[in-house]
Order: sequence, then structure tokens, then C-alpha cells
Amino acid sequence: MKKPQIVEKTAADRMRRLLGMAEERAKEGTAASMALEKRYVTIARRISTHYKVRIPDGLKHRICKNCGSFLVPGVNCKVRLSSSHGYLVYLCECGAETHSFYKPARGKSSKGRA
Ligand SMILES: [Zn+2]
Repeated sequence: MKKPQIVEKTAADRMRRLLGMAEERAKEGTAASMALEKRYVTIARRISTHYKVRIPDGLKHRICKNCGSFLVPGVNCKVRLSSSHGYLVYLCECGAETHSFYKPARGKSSKGRA
């Protein structure tokens, strides 16, 4: 049975809002705000799994799978480019890495290329 569209939209809106609040708390950098940040990320993940809705685009790769913190470059993570492999590497404070591709994968459509 397909989910009603209102459920998907509401869940996505709540996740976006929670992750926005998590980003604000991460930028504050105090111990209390870090605990709140992780709590917001946990709630957003629970919404995603409960309603079977994907975490909105552009936000999923900013959550550390190891410690659950919201990654803000320059605050709690480093961003590196792996030019030979064509991906971004987000290095969290806990030591975990998240990879995000910025080049189209090989074998896909090559429109605009010679
Ligand atoms: Zn981490």
C-alpha cells in the first residue's frame, strides 16, 4: 500500500526543520548544545525509519553514521577532495568518514562529453 503524500511531505518537513535546528546547535559548540544536536538528529532518523521516508537530499551525507552528530565544515568536521576518485570526504571528530560523489559515475550517460 502506498503512503499518503501528506505523510511523506510532513515527515520531510519535520526532518528538514530538525536538521536545521541541529545545524544551529552544532555551530554554537557548547557541551549542552552538542547533546541537543545529537538528540535532534536521532529524532530525525526515527521519523525517517518510522514513516519509511528518505532523509531530504543534501542532508543525509551531513549526518555522521558513527556518532550521530550533524556535520558542519569548519566546526566539527573537515572536508577533503579525493580528485582521483571524484568524491568528497567528510571527516568527523569521532574519526568516521562519509563519502559523497561529485563526478558522475562511470558507465552512465555521457552527454556533453567528447
Ligand atoms: Zn562522528
